[in-house]
Amino acid sequence: MKFGYRIEPDQKVDLSKIPTKADAGLSHEEGEAKLEDLGRELGELAELMYAASMHSMLVVFQGRDTAGKDGAINRLLSFVNVQGAQVSSFKVPSPKELAHDFLWRVHSETPGKGGIQVFNRSHYEDVLVVRVHKLVPEEVWEKRYDHINAFEKLLTDSNTIVVKFMLHISKDEQEERLLAREQEVDKAWKLAVGDWKERELWDEYAKAYEVALERCSPKNAPWIVIPADKKWFRDLAVAHHLVEALAPYRDQWEKSLQALGEKAKAELAAYRSTPK
Ligand code: ADP
Repeated sequence: MKFGYRIEPDQKVDLSKIPTKADAGLSHEEGEAKLEDLGRELGELAELMYAASMHSMLVVFQGRDTAGKDGAINRLLSFVNVQGAQVSSFKVPSPKELAHDFLWRVHSETPGKGGIQVFNRSHYEDVLVVRVHKLVPEEVWEKRYDHINAFEKLLTDSNTIVVKFMLHISKDEQEERLLAREQEVDKAWKLAVGDWKERELWDEYAKAYEVALERCSPKNAPWIVIPADKKWFRDLAVAHHLVEALAPYRDQWEKSLQALGEKAKAELAAYRSTPK
């Protein structure tokens, strides 16, 4: 079963060749049932990671407007204990943020040991929107791919598990979602004329995404492109990859917690046997 497209180091990326619609051979109902199971496993793993406090996880969500970043994040958070998980949303930088290097505002949002930090947009905006709109000269954004790789290497060297999702939707699906927002009262707050303007730059964004995926997908911090036209599949695929990223650490965390438990018991026994 295929739940997304992991970009290999130095792989050439052509987004038009990666499907936006997929179902891994499952019906919607089967997909929901599988998601419940995966969600439970994800919750367990997140709790173990929190208790063991040896690693942390950074989950990056990128995608065009309406790709479903908010929806995917809400679903993901429904599976993990909120105590250990937080979201950072990256908007147009403030004057103070712009007065610093582009990673300044990002680094302080990375997760501490045991925690999960979810990025709704990220440092990749600095090679996406910034590149498409020429917000800084080329010689500035061109160096950022290396800066990003070095930054993410620092994170993974510091025991942060980094997973990056690009939610991939079709142009038609985006149009439907933008039009639907106009009809739905509870989604009207999301309406923005800017979304239609950005849509005119569809190909420029595709190019910018392709370069970011090609240049910033090392083994330690891979990009995964998720077919996101079907919302249930998008959420299932995200859960699948997060479980896959965390599961290899399960034994290590369980052993460490067991050792901690034994140490605490021994300390307690020693305390009790000491004459008062
Ligand atoms: P969202 O679309 O994420 O729900 P907004 O409508 O507030 O939230 O959009 C945030 C905007 O901030 C996006 O248009 C995004 O491209 C922009 N943005 C984020 N980071 C940067 C950046 N580093 N430089 C310029 N614009 C940015």
